[in-house]
Formats: sequence, structure tokens, C-alpha cells
Amino acid sequence: MEFDLVELIRRRCEIAREDVRLGIGDDAALLAVPSGQLLAMSTDTLVSGVHFPQATSAHAIGWKALAVNLSDLAAMGATPAWATLALTLPSADRAWVSDFADGFAALAQEFKLALVGGDTTQGPLCVTVTIIGFVPDGAALVRSGARTGDAIFVTGTLGDAAGGLRLSSGALRDDIGATVAASVSESVRGALIERLQRPRPRIAQGLLLRGRATACIDVSDGLLADLGHIGAAGRVGAEIDAESLPASSALLSAFDAPTRQRLQLGGGDDYELCFTANDDDADVLLGDLARSGCGATRIGRIVAEPGVRVRDRQGTEIVVAHSGWQHFS
Ligand code: ADP
Ligand code: MG
Repeated sequence: MEFDLVELIRRRCEIAREDVRLGIGDDAALLAVPSGQLLAMSTDTLVSGVHFPQATSAHAIGWKALAVNLSDLAAMGATPAWATLALTLPSADRAWVSDFADGFAALAQEFKLALVGGDTTQGPLCVTVTIIGFVPDGAALVRSGARTGDAIFVTGTLGDAAGGLRLSSGALRDDIGATVAASVSESVRGALIERLQRPRPRIAQGLLLRGRATACIDVSDGLLADLGHIGAAGRVGAEIDAESLPASSALLSAFDAPTRQRLQLGGGDDYELCFTANDDDADVLLGDLARSGCGATRIGRIVAEPGVRVRDRQGTEIVVAHSGWQHFS
């Protein structure tokens, strides 16, 4: 039974890579490590009812389990190569696993990532992916390099996933008091939920940022929380211009301005890259990013005083109650 499921996953997700000398099927995978490169390695777990509503489709769970891991490599400026998958399932549901594997495989193929092993056990639904990629020694994007005077940027748009979560049936939480527009069209609702369920890892953008960004993080817990990590790691602070935060047209039409701002500042799960760079290099960098298929927006600046502050159009500080998703809180 379990063997059947593993065989099904293997058929869908194994991708031919010359550096995979032995993939799924033995006691361990054998992988050829390229010389001159560091391995970039990361793990993320998705728990049903915590990281996605119980009603989420298997396809979306498979996609997202890989997407959140790819996003961590993107934030390091690494190229994805291999992954393992630890799957805990309530039952040996072949149809579910097939759908899950399709969602996982769609992203794996796009990024030429080989699934090289894993584990399959019975229990409450839980998915853990470990991802491994490559980055040349010295080229990784770390959190700690932001310097006073650097500009702060974010790719894509913010708040969509958090908006989608508030619009999904069986939403997990409404921790920010979101107010939804009286009539949200199905296409707007669908677009926001798609951003929640199928985030696009910014791998190409992470590669473009090598040698140019001074610090980088992916926005998983919310902009304020994640920018707080960049500040803490670099012993600096950040100032955000609330008006400059990039919003999608779907987000604009679904929420009033105060709610939208809370979603953009505090909502997690967007998996955009937040990075800092010398402002003098910004125009060329922004042009390159726009041509890569996902542009970026300047949203603020790094300052000496620790902490993250948000300012309105007049430059007055806005107090933001909610600063991101924290476990065990
Ligand atoms: P072992 O008992 O040696 O750990 P398993 O029966 O757990 O072996 O796994 C057999 C093979 O199938 C191994 O190569 C393992 O990496 C792979 N595997 C098991 N579960 C998964 C999964 N969910 N995804 C990918 N590979 C898996
Ligand atoms: Mg095992």
C-alpha cells in the first residue's frame, strides 16, 4: 500500500538530472555535489489546519509545500536542485496522493528540481519538504547585510495571500479584523485565493539580486515581521512608506484602505522577496527585475535606529498593531 503510493509519487515527480546518481528506491539518494558551490539547504513543514485550511485541494497543498521551500532558496540567491518529501497521511488515499503529486510536480518541472527521496507515514495530514540548491561560495543573499541609507524593496505585490485567506471558506483566522468589500466578484476572490494556494517562488529574481542586494528575506510571516529579521540581523532599523506598498488590483477592489494596509504589512504567505540595496544602483536593478517577469517596488529605507516604523504620506508614524504570524503565541 505505502509502496504503491511512493511509486506513484516517484513516477510523477522524478526528473532526470545528471547529478542524481541514485534517486528514490534505495536506502539513501546519491547526489553529485558540484565543486566551487555551497549547498543551500532548507526545510519547511505544512500542517493541515495551521498552514492551510482543511478544505484545501491536494493539488494546492502539493504546489505550496514545494513553493515555500523554493522561496527560501530564492531568498538566498540559490539555484534549486533536489528535494525530499516527508508525507504523513491520514489514510492511503491514492486519488489524493495523485492530485498532490501533480501539484508538486508542476513546480518541480518548472524549476528542474528532482525529488530524490522521502518518507511516508500514517497520521494527521502533514507535509515536510527539505530542499537543496547551489550557490557559489560568497554569493549567497543573507539577512545581515543591510546598511543605514540602503533602500528597501519588495518584489510583486503584498497582501494578496492574506486577503485570499480571509476570503476562503473555513478561513483559519481573522487576526487583523479584516473588513471585506460588500460584493467581491468571483474573479477577484479567485485571484486572491490563487495567490494564497499557489505562490510563485521568485527564483529568477533571487539570482538577479546576487552581488547587488545587501540583504534579502522572503515574505512568509508578513512584511513587518520579516523586515524585522533583516533589521535585527544587520543591527539596523527600517522605515516603510505605507503609501508605496505595492497592491494588486484584486486586493484594491476587495478591501478598504485601512484593511488593505494591515494585510500588506502584517499578512503572511506572499513569498515575495524583500531586499535592501544601495539606492544608487536601484534604477538598473529595478529595470532588470521588471524584465525578469516580476518587478520590484521601493518601499522605504534602512535607518540606524532599531525597529520597523511605518509612515503615512505626511511622514507621520502609523502605529501598526499586528506585526506578523507567530507560532506558539
Ligand atoms: P526505508 O525503510 O529504507 O526508509 P522507505 O520504505 O521509507 O525506506 O522508502 C523507500 C524509498 O522511497 C526511499 O528511497 C525513500 O527515500 C523513498 N520515499 C519514501 N516515501 C517517499 C515520499 N513521500 N516521497 C519521495 N520518496 C519517498
Ligand atoms: Mg523511510
